[in-house]
Amino acid sequence: MDLLEYQAKELFREMGIPVLPSQKIDRPRDLKGLKIPYPVVIKSQVYTGGRGRAGGVRFAENTIDAVAAAQTIFNLPILGEYPKVLLAEAKYNSDQELYLAVVLNRSIRRPVLLGSQKGGVDVQSAIDEMQHVVVDQEFSPFYARRLALKMGLHGTLINSVSAIIEKMYRLFVDKDLDLVEINPLGVSPTGEVMALDGKITINDDALARHPALAALHSKPIVPVPDRLPEASTTLDPEGQIGILCNGAGLTMATMDLVCQAGGKPASFMNIGGETHNIWLKHSLSERLEQGLDLIAQNKQVRVILINLISGTVSCDELAAAIARFLQRNTHNIRNISEARDESMLNRANRPPIVVARLVGSQWSEANDRLSATQAFIKEDLDTAVAQAIALSKPAKKGT
Ligand code: GDP
Ligand code: MN
Repeated sequence: MDLLEYQAKELFREMGIPVLPSQKIDRPRDLKGLKIPYPVVIKSQVYTGGRGRAGGVRFAENTIDAVAAAQTIFNLPILGEYPKVLLAEAKYNSDQELYLAVVLNRSIRRPVLLGSQKGGVDVQSAIDEMQHVVVDQEFSPFYARRLALKMGLHGTLINSVSAIIEKMYRLFVDKDLDLVEINPLGVSPTGEVMALDGKITINDDALARHPALAALHSKPIVPVPDRLPEASTTLDPEGQIGILCNGAGLTMATMDLVCQAGGKPASFMNIGGETHNIWLKHSLSERLEQGLDLIAQNKQVRVILINLISGTVSCDELAAAIARFLQRNTHNIRNISEARDESMLNRANRPPIVVARLVGSQWSEANDRLSATQAFIKEDLDTAVAQAIALSKPAKKGT
């Protein structure tokens, strides 16, 4: 469960992480009674990121500007989501913007501290310089300091940033969080630090232990497209492999591997990651099923290579979606053969073979489920790629 910025900042304030005075705004006229001195910044409170770029963060010098800015922001959807409330906050002059986060790494089941000197709205440059410290034993201030040093901070900033990381870590543990992020942490010309934006994700399984936090949630009303793109992107007219992954990075990396190993991708499809995707109203397994149907429409595709990494949806649920896809298509074949039209039974009408590399929980259940189908399930990506390529090549005559 994600919190809105103003809710995250309330938790920051309780924990002693510096935040600016601010006020929640339910309607533009609330700004007439603003208790914060101008200039202020008015910020859309939505669950999606990238508000700054989308125009959801505006500065105002006086009441008239502020009311106008609020009207604009209330009517500005960000990735399809309209804000129900805004946050008005004192303006802060920062010389530098840092990125800080504590996140649960699910594969190693340890918290990881993240930090970058290049925080702010340009996420890519933050990522390029991101430093990691795995909290592999009991937490001590040493871990926070290590991150500050790895980030290349100097002078008093080492101590002030370490202190913030320690508090973020305490919040992370106390409230059972999956993520606590400050981006940006503003650094003033005099070297003071201030959390200018905050993101908190609470572990859903722990919500029962935190009724006060659970009560904060109100689902956003998001008008969303209820289908994936109409078709997958077609690549090589000679290609025979359709690639389906969750996340752009994974999709590109999988395509590279297939090409390097001598395979020919026919098309690819990114069905979207599982986090930061609340505007996708379908679950990962539903999107997998839709995606398979779309890729299979491309008659050139003989093999569909699936590469999915899932933290929340089990491999078995994904396998069930694959099994349903195969079942539908096998029925189609039966209908065709009942029509006794041999010409229709040429290769183009056979459903593609599925090779799935799945990473996540309940892998062996997934394996059991798919063992009775024409799908191949692999744990290892290289093996899956090799198999998909082998199956995509036409069988040699006489063998
Ligand atoms: P995001 O785009 O959704 O991450 O929204 P942010 O809350 O991070 O705001 C975007 C950018 O606006 C930040 O990176 C800052 O550069 C700037 N910003 C936000 N709040 C303040 C503020 O109080 N003072 C100043 N000077 N800049 C701010
Ligand atoms: Mn931000």
